[in-house]
Amino acid sequence: MMGKKTKTVKVINIDLEKCNGCRACEMICSAFHASEKYSSNNPTRSRIRMIRRPLEDIYLPIYAGEYTAAECMGRDKYVIDGKEYDECDFCRASCPSREAFKEPDSGLPLKCDMCEDDPPQEEPLCVKWCLSDALTYEIREEEVEDEEEEEQKDLTQEEMERSIKALADRYGLDKAANSMARLLKKE
Ligand code: SF4
Ligand code: SF4
Repeated sequence: MMGKKTKTVKVINIDLEKCNGCRACEMICSAFHASEKYSSNNPTRSRIRMIRRPLEDIYLPIYAGEYTAAECMGRDKYVIDGKEYDECDFCRASCPSREAFKEPDSGLPLKCDMCEDDPPQEEPLCVKWCLSDALTYEIREEEVEDEEEEEQKDLTQEEMERSIKALADRYGLDKAANSMARLLKKE
């Protein structure tokens, strides 16, 4: 029977119209993640980076995502509301082709943890410190089908029946049944 489960989805919404490039998000993120908390603030250690080109009126906060060992060969170029973004501007990867999202001393990749590091915060700190409301936090429950689980069970049942049939075809139904009965007794 199909069941419904839920999963918690946490989202930081970004409104580019409201971002003024103040970089408060970078400062608090790097301070929170400093090896002694709040002992320093260094934007290069932040898990959110501001792409800031005032002359082009571009203020784009980007969150650090997954690490990638190799840079990608295909690139995307966006023009939004007449503003031209660079090829890697929207990419969240910690990638060998650029400086962003790497711990400056060790070169280790950085990734946003939604401030669930120790101690976990109720709300991401970058959201809390963004006084222009360019960043807003949303938590919602989403229903997930467990169709995949059911399909897996069906497949396992089907595979098992196929194996039993193959045994019966090869050794005869009686021999196959006797072997299974012996196995069951051993258990
Ligand atoms: S704190 Fe908000 S307004 Fe300031 S740079 Fe970050 S996202 Fe933009
Ligand atoms: S959610 Fe926390 S870890 Fe992620 S960028 Fe914002 S301050 Fe940094």
